[in-house]
Amino acid sequence: MNKTFTCILCPNGCEIAVAYEGANINSLNGALCDKGENYVTQELIAPMRNIATLVKVEGGKLPLTSVRLSKPIPKKYIFEVMSLIRKQALVAPTSIGQIVIKNVLGLGSDVVVTKNVDAV
Ligand code: SF4
Repeated sequence: MNKTFTCILCPNGCEIAVAYEGANINSLNGALCDKGENYVTQELIAPMRNIATLVKVEGGKLPLTSVRLSKPIPKKYIFEVMSLIRKQALVAPTSIGQIVIKNVLGLGSDVVVTKNVDAV
C-alpha cells in the first residue's frame, strides 16, 4: 500500500511518501531526517498523540489555564481523555507542573498545568 504522512515532530512538517505492507516499510521518501521513519513506523503500528488544551480556573486573575499531557497517549483515547479534561475545574492559584489528572485512564500519562494563574 502507499500512503503519505505529514511528520509532526518538528516545524518542517515533511510530507513522507511510504510504500508499506502491514508495519513493514518498503520505501520511504521525503523525510529530511531519520526521525521521519520512526514517526511513520509509529503511525502504522500505534499512532500516539499529545493534548494541549485549557481548564477552568475559579478565583483566578485569568478564567483558564493551559494543560497538556506529560507524554503522548494512543490516538484512539484522545476524545475520551478530552472529555475528562473538560470536566475539570481548578482553584487559583495554579502552578506549572501541577497535576490535574494523574495517570489518566491508566495510560501512564498525567494531565499537567503549563501556565501559572494567580488568585484574585
Ligand atoms: S522528518 Fe525530521 S525534519 Fe522532517 S518533520 Fe519529521 S522530524 Fe522534522
